[in-house]
Amino acid sequence: MSVMWDLPDFDGHEAVHFFHDHETGLSAIIALHSTHLGPGAGGTRFWHYENRETAVTDALRLSRGMSFKNALAGLPLGGGKAVILADQNRTKTPDMMAAFGRMIDSLAGRYVTAEDVGISTADMVEVAKQTAFVSGLPVSNSGHAGGDPGPFTAKGVYLGVKAAVAHKLGRKDMDGVHVAIQGVGSVGGGLARLLAKDGAKLSIADINKDHAQTLADEIGAEVVGLDDVMRLEADVFSPNALGAILDTVSIAHLNVPIVAGGANNQLATPEDGQRLFDREILFAPDYVINSGGIISVGLEYLGDSDVTEVNSRVDRIPDRLTEIWDQSASLKLPSAVVADKMARSLIGRP
Ligand code: NAD
Repeated sequence: MSVMWDLPDFDGHEAVHFFHDHETGLSAIIALHSTHLGPGAGGTRFWHYENRETAVTDALRLSRGMSFKNALAGLPLGGGKAVILADQNRTKTPDMMAAFGRMIDSLAGRYVTAEDVGISTADMVEVAKQTAFVSGLPVSNSGHAGGDPGPFTAKGVYLGVKAAVAHKLGRKDMDGVHVAIQGVGSVGGGLARLLAKDGAKLSIADINKDHAQTLADEIGAEVVGLDDVMRLEADVFSPNALGAILDTVSIAHLNVPIVAGGANNQLATPEDGQRLFDREILFAPDYVINSGGIISVGLEYLGDSDVTEVNSRVDRIPDRLTEIWDQSASLKLPSAVVADKMARSLIGRP
């Protein structure tokens, strides 16, 4: 019998909690990878999984990703993540979110939550009625960051894409640079709007075709097919939907010199980082380029949510990426490996 500790993605998790609330039917997993630097912080994903194994794997991978992300973002926070196992209709009620809030509270501050895919600021408000260990709440003071972390993530990804273009293509501006964006929700949509202002040529794809078309009409982008977006000849492929999209097959078909986007866990396996490196495709490690959101919710939770401070930390994302790419070139190691090594050393697990 295979047990939790034997799972390939377990990677020394400090704890993995399985919850069920009988009254609302809510099932959730809260994975805590490391609390070495502080309470495990990471958002809650609300998703209909094909089976429970997939949900566990997602929780473990996302939680470890948060340990690495928070460490490299310089935050005094560890890594954790929650996934709520939605039913096929994605039923979500305030009572369910309240039950989830009580689950978080039972961990007494070892885990701090915020929004992720499928979770809104309104959901976090329900959670906050039950527990103090929550961030990403609406702000009443205009000088403070808070609420939806999406815009800060989008800004960090935008700065990261520009840094990648400068590093790989030697271009200082984005005018006419072709970016293919997969997923134009909170992060991808924000990224597209920022790039459009710079005159970038944009090809976008989203399973919500109406939404993609509305955005394309607004910013002058072209909507392309879901299967085409990863194969387009472009300067940058930017994944901003779900993870594990970079695998043997998709990497072989990439027709870009750069992959830089906000989706978590883009590499299907660690070997896929090597595959990108072998093809000389510059890869922005996802948890580095997409750390803008956790910088916002992290500082909000830690009580330092001054928007100038949040923005100045988000502005440093390109420096971290450049350091990783420089080390990757000098050590002849994939950027994902370099980033993992840096993060592991920061969380005391070199
Ligand atoms: P979102 O739900 O707002 O947007 C995701 C978009 O992707 C939606 O428009 C959806 O229709 C689309 N999509 C889903 N599957 C697709 C597919 N196969 N092909 C094309 N489009 C598809 O979510 P978001 O907040 O923008 O997050 C996007 C990604 O960024 C996720 O991987 C998330 O974990 C990651 N991320 C988000 C944040 C944040 O602050 N929101 C922070 C860090 C990382």
